[in-house]
Amino acid sequence: MQSLIIMVTILGDNPTVDAKMVAENGVKKWQFGLNEALAVAGSLSIRGTLSKVISCVEEAGPKPMVSFGNGDPSLFPCFRTTPIAEDAIVEAVRSAKHNHYSPFVGLLPARRAVAEYLSKELPYKLSPDDVFLTSGCQQAAEVVMTALARPGANILIPRPGFPLYEARCVVHDLEIRRFNLIPEKEWEVDLDQVEQLADGNTVAIVLINPNNPCGNVYTYQHLEKIAKTARKLGIMVITDEVYGHIIFGNNPFVPMGVFGDIVPVITLGSISKRWVVPGWRLGWIVTTDPNGILKKTKVVDSIENYLAITSDPATFIQGAVPQIFEKTKDGFFSKIIHLLREDAETCFNKIKDIKCITCPHKPEGSMFVLVKLDLSCLEDINDDVDFCCKLAKEESVIICPGSALDMKNWLRITFAVEPATLDVGLERLKSFCQRHEKQSDK
Ligand SMILES: *Cc1c(COP(=O)(O)O)cnc(C)c1O
Repeated sequence: MQSLIIMVTILGDNPTVDAKMVAENGVKKWQFGLNEALAVAGSLSIRGTLSKVISCVEEAGPKPMVSFGNGDPSLFPCFRTTPIAEDAIVEAVRSAKHNHYSPFVGLLPARRAVAEYLSKELPYKLSPDDVFLTSGCQQAAEVVMTALARPGANILIPRPGFPLYEARCVVHDLEIRRFNLIPEKEWEVDLDQVEQLADGNTVAIVLINPNNPCGNVYTYQHLEKIAKTARKLGIMVITDEVYGHIIFGNNPFVPMGVFGDIVPVITLGSISKRWVVPGWRLGWIVTTDPNGILKKTKVVDSIENYLAITSDPATFIQGAVPQIFEKTKDGFFSKIIHLLREDAETCFNKIKDIKCITCPHKPEGSMFVLVKLDLSCLEDINDDVDFCCKLAKEESVIICPGSALDMKNWLRITFAVEPATLDVGLERLKSFCQRHEKQSDK
């Protein structure tokens, strides 16, 4: 105790810390407190925003809650993963071969399986050395953003985007520059703006394809234009393809790595969405860079250095990866796509019938759609957050306000729920909008 007090006294000589001190019970002051960067970063998370919306639901509400907030269809029996994946995990555990620590880059057979899986769509072959395993796509993003951060650097992030990227920038002091996706042009990247925003300190442009929250899938031609623009600017492309292959419209899925000979590409992904197992936490960082620029510029070293000091995905999950990739039947994927296509159709059609909400683009990939709220035809709604809170309170329906994605007065809806639940939730959304419609408009 004595030494503690002495220490506190010594440390207490710092006058700026002094001002914030609280005296209590013989302790002169507690010298620790809020990390402000983390407070900002945490407030950016979708989970944080959604928990605020959920707290608006009245406890003894008459209606069971319907959530169009988080994209996690694993909660519904119709979206259950394939037994092949479940068996692979069981076998990996029972083999007792995966109880050890993993190498920090991941187990070789699993890295090889990811390399082969992604190479199918590329004009060149990836090596296991191009693959780094992570705890979901979330950690993949964390690792890459950390590896790129250096004093003065900035990064181009889409608006609307996925707050995870912005949160990481805040934590690492990587300056965020937002470029717009254009709703009238199927959410294409505003490339003129990208060129204006970039300067000598820009390191990368982030893309999400198929897109969460917009639900669009970029064409080959547009991706090629992005690659050429990035090359001109001397920046790499970071592409979040966690929804790769989850497409149900006209555009095929083209991985950005196809343009790896134009510009170095870092591809992020996971099994979370395609296999509907977000809780298994298995993702990857892949350098799709046949010219080896990321090695030459030592970005790969930075990625490895960070992986060496962070946690790895559970070894038995890695152990199951080769089997999961090898044995999953196409029928499983097509069943999931079929369900999502029907859900997307239902969602788009029902929203067309709601007067105060417009959908600029029918979703053709991912599990989300971004729709615009027309406040001028609603009576007593201040903004998107107010809309979502009142909707939660009156109808027990949870929707993510666009503000969480830097898109005020838009709404992000996930349609990846059981069809019956989707119908119920959208009906409630419709009656909520009718009830709050301006009298003069009725
Ligand atoms: C879900 C999601 C992630 C996170 O994926 P995990 O594998 O669950 O960590 C990353 N990016 C986007 C765009 C997502 O929707």
